[in-house]
Amino acid sequence: MSGSLQRTQGDDGTLYHWMRSKSEKTDTGLHDWMIPEAGVRALRVMERWAKPYQASIAMEIVERRGKNTLDPEIPRAQQHRNALFLGSYSTKGNQARTVSLAAWNVGLKAFARKVGLDWPLASHQFRRKFANYVAHSRFGDLRYLREHFAHWSMDMALGYAMDESWGGHLDLDLYSEIQAEYDDIKLDTVDGWLSDDLLAGGFGRSIKQWQRDPANLAIFKDHRTMVISIAESTSIRSNGHAWCSADNDGCVGNTLERTRCGDCNNAVIGVGHLRIYQQLYNNLKELLDCRDIGESGRLRVLRDMERCRSVFTQLGYDPESKTG
Ligand code: SF4
Repeated sequence: MSGSLQRTQGDDGTLYHWMRSKSEKTDTGLHDWMIPEAGVRALRVMERWAKPYQASIAMEIVERRGKNTLDPEIPRAQQHRNALFLGSYSTKGNQARTVSLAAWNVGLKAFARKVGLDWPLASHQFRRKFANYVAHSRFGDLRYLREHFAHWSMDMALGYAMDESWGGHLDLDLYSEIQAEYDDIKLDTVDGWLSDDLLAGGFGRSIKQWQRDPANLAIFKDHRTMVISIAESTSIRSNGHAWCSADNDGCVGNTLERTRCGDCNNAVIGVGHLRIYQQLYNNLKELLDCRDIGESGRLRVLRDMERCRSVFTQLGYDPESKTG
């Protein structure tokens, strides 16, 4: 609706944008959604889009009042008067009204066809996709989305939800969906760890060792129970080159010193990470040819190459077979 944009400022000066909308689905009325800059621009466009339709509805109300002040269509028209996502209904004499869910879904399918997609696009998929993105971002994947969703972490989100002065209308259902997506990602990850593939990293090796003892597996009713139990009891975050089970992301192994994960007791490294280590190894080899890195630089490159080789060995892979 018009005037739906709000802005708040975090303690560190960061600006957060919010869009207020009304949820018919949950019957709880108004909701505030955190949106990125692009969302703000989209709303500004929609405000311009809606103006002629809003004027048309205002005119319709005046005309109806002129004919019959008790016309039941007047309060209905008033409900749409400040909406942004407006369109005209040819079946009702081009009456301007909020675009209905059914109309959105027809439009989305037509849009998909127009851009050559064989995909039954529907509105509910956006909500699910959003929850999935936030969950992946929280897990550590999709790092480019981290800024957008930094404050969609569960802790922060619940913090907002509990703030009486702001956020009283937040959609807790969405947080449940994000948590469910996040739990699914963790389950898939642990399920992958327990496959027949080798694992590197201290924690990865421990898992494989533990898995080799049938007595450990016998504790669990079935494979799924085992996966759930490990996923629930383990902190897991993807940093791109390993899954890190440390409680927080403060370690330099996440960023400046990536090879550190190779032998860390918190790390699980799978065959899916090999491409990254291969690239890292190739880059390090090139660095060795640089004359201006000094002796300490050279030693560090050699150390990192050795760390990469250790990962290759743990995963049963020969880096020299693919380099060059
Ligand atoms: S070195 Fe260990 S604690 Fe640090 S990021 Fe890598 S896995 Fe996590």
